[in-house]
Amino acid sequence: MNNNFQKDRKDRKKRLRLHCGIVLFGLTIMLGATLSHVPAKQSNESHEIKSDYKVKDKKAETAKNNEAKKKAETAEANAAVLSMWNHVLVNPWNKLPENFTVDLQQLGDGQAIDKRAYPDLQAMMDDARAQGLSPVICSSYRAPEKQEYLFDDKIKRCEEQGYSKEEAEKVAATWVALPGTSEHQTGLALDIVSSNNQTLEKEQEDTPEQQWLINNSYKYGFILRYPSEKSNITGISYEPWHYRYVGRETAKIIHDSGICLEEYLDSLKPGTK
Ligand SMILES: [Zn+2]
Repeated sequence: MNNNFQKDRKDRKKRLRLHCGIVLFGLTIMLGATLSHVPAKQSNESHEIKSDYKVKDKKAETAKNNEAKKKAETAEANAAVLSMWNHVLVNPWNKLPENFTVDLQQLGDGQAIDKRAYPDLQAMMDDARAQGLSPVICSSYRAPEKQEYLFDDKIKRCEEQGYSKEEAEKVAATWVALPGTSEHQTGLALDIVSSNNQTLEKEQEDTPEQQWLINNSYKYGFILRYPSEKSNITGISYEPWHYRYVGRETAKIIHDSGICLEEYLDSLKPGTK
């Protein structure tokens, strides 16, 4: 009886150990399985770094896109400014467009100007006169036929001086703009002189009228078109009497920065800063 009891106890102990062994084994397997599913801390960090790079890449891409968008918008805005009616460029290298037309405002004495520039011109002349000055407009809009006539007439006079026809044409071109290349054909250019000195000479700049116009015309949208130091760019020698309407905003930029119209327009073209 005692023996049986002892054997029974041993068997129970064995079974218990076996059960414990099975449970432990099971737990070990489960723990292993769980651990294998938990990503290592290191791999988690590298994931964070990767996504950090992604954010940076995206930011760089957005900045790049914004810059490209801004560039395109600036180019578009500049192109619009370049094509404005008051920015038409006429010089020895840029002929007036073939289909060019202009709506003129007659000024009296046979003078005329583009209607759109007239209010600013009137304001400028009124203010100059209010200062006790006497500016006189001696040249303004020139029809193509008039420019043609002036050019042919100059050739004739050169021939009379003894030049051959070929030479006369060359010499005439240094004095009178070839038809199609005179800014006066735009209706935006004016020659203004002092009533006390109506010659188109360098001394014109010493008159009180020119002094006032040189310093104030930009406030009314006009620029001294052919400054002495810009002849190589404008193609025209110094003319301290020739004013060109470009609008108040542009005139201020050109006046304040000391550039000429060609330089201003070039700065708006693609590829320039
Ligand atoms: Zn002129």
